[in-house]
Amino acid sequence: MFDNIKATDGFKNSISVAVNSGKLSHALILEGSDDESRFLAATEIASAVMCQSDAKPCGVCSHCIKCGKGIHPDLHIIEKTDDSTMIKVDAIRALKTKALLFPNEAKKSVFIIRQANLMNPQAQNALLKIFEEPAPHLCFILTCPSKSAFLDTIISRATVYSLGEEIIGQSTGDDKADSLAAELISTLAGENEFSFIRKTAVFQKDKKLFASTVSAMIPIARDALILKSGGKDLLVEDSTASKKLAASFTQKKTAALLDALQEFSDSLQFSPNHNLAVTRFCSLLYSIKTN
Ligand SMILES: [Zn+2]
Repeated sequence: MFDNIKATDGFKNSISVAVNSGKLSHALILEGSDDESRFLAATEIASAVMCQSDAKPCGVCSHCIKCGKGIHPDLHIIEKTDDSTMIKVDAIRALKTKALLFPNEAKKSVFIIRQANLMNPQAQNALLKIFEEPAPHLCFILTCPSKSAFLDTIISRATVYSLGEEIIGQSTGDDKADSLAAELISTLAGENEFSFIRKTAVFQKDKKLFASTVSAMIPIARDALILKSGGKDLLVEDSTASKKLAASFTQKKTAALLDALQEFSDSLQFSPNHNLAVTRFCSLLYSIKTN
């Protein structure tokens, strides 16, 4: 199992044991490694869930073959569409409708939410309702760089498996980036644009810090959006910056900021000119603020 997937042996073993002892949770979060590996791992787990052989996944039965080709009628893949940077509540509502139906060929229906970290808070809340009362014929696999993108209530109802080293994360585990991210969000919420630009000067020589900081700004913006919509389940421990942002930005602007940060963070690794990217970052955020 998982022969061609970039993941630790610990991950491969624990999944294999859980699957073959029938103890796999109905909701899994796969974090770490890269998007492609997480998705391949999720597909293999789906095969294993549906496979009828003794050693799952056998790779040769019709369930395994159809899952591998992505054509199994009971395998449902939810991912962001090309014209959106987020997985919105509509996609989760559609999932809910499918989840009401019994599987066609297998004993379980498997739903893979790829890059589930892109679900906005409304989508996460909609998903939570399904997690709370899971029907026995359902299995959910959420893939993401880091589970920190999810509401605590989602995490507590799922089993989290890490494939290993995180490549592009939202929780950077980098104190410097985290504190810079909070500082930048607070400054953006304030009045002084020049002060914001001055604070980004440190990025000109540090590409990695820039990427980590942009990444760390995402959960802060997401928390501000949660605050704006009356929610309380915040992702970041220190909510000072989110509160400042929520007080200064409208809900629409906060959502636009979150979208922009996510998109910017995704595109950053393909950005050929680093200094230009920093400049573009400042003007992008201020265009959202002043529009
Ligand atoms: Zn099989």
